[in-house]
Amino acid sequence: MSERFEVVVVGSGAGGGVVAGELALRGRDVLLLETGPHMTAASFQRWEAKANHDIWWPLRFAPLPDGDLVTFLAARCVGGTTTVNTKVALRADDHDLAKWHAATRLTNERAEPFGAGDLAGHYDRVEQVLGVRERTDWPKSVYTLEAAFRELGSPLEAVHAYTDPNCQKCGSCLQGCPTNAGKSTMNTYIADALARNLLELRANAWVERVLIEGGEATGVEYVDGEGERHVVQAGVVVVAGGALNTPQLLLRSGLESPAIGRHLGLHPVRLVYGLFDEPQDAHMVYPITAHAMAHQHDEDGGFVIEATTIQDPIAFATTLRDEDGPFWGQRLVDAVQKFRHWNGVLAMVNDDNNASVSLDENGNEQFAVAFQPVEHERLDAALDFSREVLERAGAKQVCWTGIASTHVQGSARMGDDPAVSVVDRNGESHEVKRLYVGDASLVPRTLSVNPSLTIMALASRLAEHLDADQADYLSSARLAA
Ligand SMILES: Cc1cc2nc3c(=O)[nH]c(=O)nc-3n(C[C@H](O)[C@H](O)[C@H](O)COP(=O)(O)OP(=O)(O)OC[C@H]3O[C@@H](n4cnc5c(N)ncnc54)[C@H](O)[C@@H]3O)c2cc1C
Repeated sequence: MSERFEVVVVGSGAGGGVVAGELALRGRDVLLLETGPHMTAASFQRWEAKANHDIWWPLRFAPLPDGDLVTFLAARCVGGTTTVNTKVALRADDHDLAKWHAATRLTNERAEPFGAGDLAGHYDRVEQVLGVRERTDWPKSVYTLEAAFRELGSPLEAVHAYTDPNCQKCGSCLQGCPTNAGKSTMNTYIADALARNLLELRANAWVERVLIEGGEATGVEYVDGEGERHVVQAGVVVVAGGALNTPQLLLRSGLESPAIGRHLGLHPVRLVYGLFDEPQDAHMVYPITAHAMAHQHDEDGGFVIEATTIQDPIAFATTLRDEDGPFWGQRLVDAVQKFRHWNGVLAMVNDDNNASVSLDENGNEQFAVAFQPVEHERLDAALDFSREVLERAGAKQVCWTGIASTHVQGSARMGDDPAVSVVDRNGESHEVKRLYVGDASLVPRTLSVNPSLTIMALASRLAEHLDADQADYLSSARLAA
């Protein structure tokens, strides 16, 4: 006989970690399945290649019409991408939330357009659990650029972050925080529930499909680390594999909603680097300590610049380019030799959800991106602004990376209109009852700021909804167990 839980959560990142942790702490019977390993601070070290192997998804790419590529970056481990991210914690602003209603007609339970008030209490709760605080302890590399930002009318401000005061500013966030100062869902929500024996966590467990009978989700089928197949029954299934994986799991499970995988938002980024005479040691900072918000809204340019940061050596050396093309040979050697002298900014651009994820006829994932002219304009404006800042600050040479996406969102979005959304205002599938989405896929339109706090607030809202159990999904699962 297969096992039965009230709730099975697939994926343990920003969304899944919060849903599973909150429900377990509320006394619900929860199984959390994660395809990556369960690694902790004790094994994290600054070893880029090993971290890439142990806790990151292999790089994934989407082709662009001009032959270039968009690179997708995400983690595959307990805590998901929160285990390796840079912990910037920002709330969505009113401009972003207004776009949600416009995109999917999303309303709240009073049938009003969904807005800031619908998330405020959840943001409060998540910020409290994660210990969000302002970071004013800027390193030298930020001060190198500060005057230039100010002179260009877009002053740097301190970011809020989920890092506690033990942060050593060692810069190894992307390999997993070795001191636990950086808060992930792994060392907060999930660790809290595990420490109280309230949560069943299974790492190295790949969920192949959601089981559906008579229009209702009844459980999942997964393969464990030894290759053994398991079936688990559940009152509710929450899919939270991240915005690239969740649509694939829904499609593999037989869902047909036309919006699945469409409207993928990238929040595309480029790193832009400037070479300075003095060492900057931009690799030895808490990666993101400040940001410039003057161009945040579409009408002001549609980009946010974060400072300062530089990639670790492998990523740095393999992504450099300028107007003469990718760096290679002597140009690359010269650049890498001066690693400590490069300073960098991260240019994040508003997009209009014109990408998609789907499965080909063999079931393999495929990604498409169709940037529109206005999105190209924003990307160009962000690059130009970043170059200007670095040159004004005294950089002798400027180069940059290709376009990457670390903030995918919107591929199974919530809304009132089933033609353009996959789940309703509570995160429940329009198509299959007892099936919920609980991750970045929910976000109806790309945010202009880093998304994880919003994903966690949405997940906290979902946990509250599931625990209230108005549809009797969980109490009926309890009875049947
Ligand atoms: C380098 C980097 C820096 C970032 N910095 C910031 C930042 O400073 N601030 C911020 O707000 N955001 C940041 N982000 C983005 C943020 O971390 C993500 O938006 C967020 O973690 C996404 O949450 P999620 O739950 O959708 O997916 P994830 O956190 O990626 O979690 C999904 C999990 O599901 C698992 N999974 C997938 N499919 C399956 C399956 N079939 N079976 C079992 N498990 C599965 C995955 O392995 C993964 O662990 C950053 C991202 C990157 C890559």
